Amino acid sequence: MASIAKRLEGKVAIVTGGASGIGEAATRLFIKHGAKVVIADIQDDLGLSIVKEIGEHEVVSYVHCDVKVEKDVENAVDMAVSKYGKLDIMFSNAGIPEALSSSILKIDYEIFKKIFDVNVFGALMCAKHAARVMIPARKGSIIFTSSIASVTCGGGAHTYWASKHAVAGLAKNLGVELGQHGIRVNCVSPFLVPTQMLSKGLGMKEKEKMDEFVCEIANLKGTISDVEDVVQATLYLASDESKYISGMNIVIDGGYSTTNVALK
Ligand code: NAD
Repeated sequence: MASIAKRLEGKVAIVTGGASGIGEAATRLFIKHGAKVVIADIQDDLGLSIVKEIGEHEVVSYVHCDVKVEKDVENAVDMAVSKYGKLDIMFSNAGIPEALSSSILKIDYEIFKKIFDVNVFGALMCAKHAARVMIPARKGSIIFTSSIASVTCGGGAHTYWASKHAVAGLAKNLGVELGQHGIRVNCVSPFLVPTQMLSKGLGMKEKEKMDEFVCEIANLKGTISDVEDVVQATLYLASDESKYISGMNIVIDGGYSTTNVALK
């Protein structure tokens, strides 16, 4: 097992949605722990600026990858293998929100398709193409970003809630098939963390306002939820320290889901 200082030494990872928020924080943490990372995103400027800032193409690369386009995901996996020789970790994290206030009366096929294409089909494609190269290697860790939406009610945003239930279901079900090949599949389920998505989803531009809102509804007082809380759990699932854990959903919510109060 790798030393505690470099928990991903020698591993190769893809992080979808790696140009921002949770994905960006995971990219930085994985690299800090010795992994080589391919950032797969649609925000090319942001992705390329992270690569430029880290400044070492040996440890980080960027590829344009819209996860709802199978060819893009296939290409990202092939790039990781051709550049770094293998793929150990697929962090399928890209996702899009729906306004919390949206009602069932506003749902139509276009909204459903938009959200499910990215959040669910995208996750399926990431797992499919990761499995394609992990099965022959007989090892690998696939991690999805689900949400507290997988274990709570939301009081609106039904399509997003359904999509994140689906993602947690995928981790369980894929864990059975891919476990036969030594591949683990898990997911992390964050509470509200201050990222681009939260400011768009809740319409909160200021971090202080977001922190205040999150603090008010979380059980655990005096602690602000942060991307670091999410990516530390992801690091654990990516590393060999979690070698006997598969099909699980790690909920990172300061205990919020134990009370199951609807978000409004
Ligand atoms: P974010 O908006 O900061 O990051 C999301 C990233 O995904 C962006 O870089 C975006 O460009 C990328 N992306 C969007 N659509 C894509 C596509 N089709 N293909 C490839 N990349 C795409 O938001 P975040 O909060 O870091 O979100 C990451 C994940 O966390 C999402 O799956 C989201 O549902 C989940 N999540 C977030 C919160 C929260 O409060 N922020 C809570 C629970 C779950």
